[in-house]
Amino acid sequence: MKRLYVDADAEDFREANAEGQLDDHEQCYAAVFAIKTPINDHSGLAHLVEHMVFRGSKKYPCSHELFVINHLLPANINASTQNGYTFYFFKTTEISLFYPLLDYLVQGIVQINYRESELILERDGVLHQELQMYEAMEEYQLYASALRGDESPENNYHYGGFTDTMSKNTLQQLRQYKTRYYQPDDMTLLCSGRGIDMRRVEQCTNVSINESQISLHDKHVRQSKSGLETKFETKRNATSPEVVITWRVHCTYLTSLENTLNLIQKHLPKDNRIFIDPETNNADEVALRLVTLNPEQSKEIVTDCLQTLYSDDVSTYNIGKLDPQIKRLISYFIKVKGLTPVRPEKLTKTAMPLASESFLNRIEPSEIVPFNCTPLLMQSSFCSSLSKYVSVENLPILPKLFHSLATRLSSEKCFIAEGAHWLYLIQEEELLQTANTLLAAEFWSPRLRGELYAMGVSLLDGRYFLYGAQDKMVNSREEWLFRIRQSAR
Ligand SMILES: [Zn+2]
Repeated sequence: MKRLYVDADAEDFREANAEGQLDDHEQCYAAVFAIKTPINDHSGLAHLVEHMVFRGSKKYPCSHELFVINHLLPANINASTQNGYTFYFFKTTEISLFYPLLDYLVQGIVQINYRESELILERDGVLHQELQMYEAMEEYQLYASALRGDESPENNYHYGGFTDTMSKNTLQQLRQYKTRYYQPDDMTLLCSGRGIDMRRVEQCTNVSINESQISLHDKHVRQSKSGLETKFETKRNATSPEVVITWRVHCTYLTSLENTLNLIQKHLPKDNRIFIDPETNNADEVALRLVTLNPEQSKEIVTDCLQTLYSDDVSTYNIGKLDPQIKRLISYFIKVKGLTPVRPEKLTKTAMPLASESFLNRIEPSEIVPFNCTPLLMQSSFCSSLSKYVSVENLPILPKLFHSLATRLSSEKCFIAEGAHWLYLIQEEELLQTANTLLAAEFWSPRLRGELYAMGVSLLDGRYFLYGAQDKMVNSREEWLFRIRQSAR
């Protein structure tokens, strides 16, 4: 594992911040694990692995620690799977929380033994709800049908997976994937903050140190190929007369492509649809897809417009949508230090290491460790020694998705549901109990049981809300709220 550190006060780090809107004087301690996670198919396996990392570990057996940390500690922890990498990251304003958070992440990353029932709850519950939410959107359906209909060898795969492909992933496949790809050689840890002790970081992440997926290159050496000539035509589906045309463009052209999209749209006939699929294939190319009834005419228009594309240097390497501070940290190492993410190898059968060589099994004996035995009765163990940092003051801001619903709630009408989403306005007197309530797994049971995609308690304009997104039990949620309020008293 390669461990890299930048002092938050370092001049070149702050220079790298200049284009961001963030206050670079605010002291923040952050860490990112960048793990090479190739996407070999549409299964969404890497996405499932990412979710399971937060589903508990031998040392931190509770499945709800992630929510407790994000709600009650001055910290933010999350992960994202994209472009052949999974980024696990956190940031905090307290240096005393830096090492415990690092430990929490490491333990989740090296965990390989899961109970089948836990996998099923996450896969068929939480992930199913998440993917279903996207798949219900019309725009996404178009994107997905173009992607899945494209059988060209250069096609990219969807990192997230689809509801039908996700459900086929097994515990054995998950273990195999983690054994193959979650190896220390394929991990890089980036840290920032004032006075982080890297020796302590090393102890905390004590695995063999070797080269990693990020290797040193001169930052101008990278040759970007445009790939603009590559075009593929496929039928949208058997019944539709529409044709999908795909251009593949190297991801360093992405910004320029995004800026050109409006122009292309203007030139195309009204019934044509054009969009970018920013997920990269194994050659780091993103797809530009055109859905059209008159391919010959439209193809020419697009090809003409693409002549003006220009490539950014490696500094804008596509790392997708991440927390801005985390993105800044990754960008710093790519831009200032000239580190270039190297494309992970594709999976080959012979590349599967034996169990005994596996870093994961070395950390964790191969017997099935029974954890999460009584998930709903457990208090957060992670927070037990950090109780002085636990406070409802740390509750996050209400997600945008719920802002319009929030305006429709008052002390007379404190619950509202719309589609599969719901929002509840917390009354003052209930709030006194909130910190304790949120420490218990019982509170998070709808999420842990996979009934909904996301839930949380958060603040907007001085009012506290409890929300749920993509909840298949939305009709009985008010009843559940009543019970949870009773038990909080
Ligand atoms: Zn997810």
